[in-house]
Amino acid sequence: MTRDASLGEFGVGEDDEQSTVEPAESPTDADGAAAGSTAGGDHDAPDPIQPTSRWSGEPRPCADCGTDIKRAWTDDGRLLCADCKEW
Ligand SMILES: [Zn+2]
Repeated sequence: MTRDASLGEFGVGEDDEQSTVEPAESPTDADGAAAGSTAGGDHDAPDPIQPTSRWSGEPRPCADCGTDIKRAWTDDGRLLCADCKEW
């Protein structure tokens, strides 16, 4: 009877969404700027991907109501809790 307890650390049912918002996903950004004069249709990363929510190991205060939250939602550059985030 072996049980993988690590699943609970990520929050059941939430890890799927988390994997889609990896912040470090623009490796072509630096190269594209330098070789911009030669590439015509090599422009596949115009903007850095902006995650809609981010996890942190330590609770951080919501920018609006001050509630300590582990999952912060980005809204206009601020980190909000789910209650203050406008959907
Ligand atoms: Zn809030």
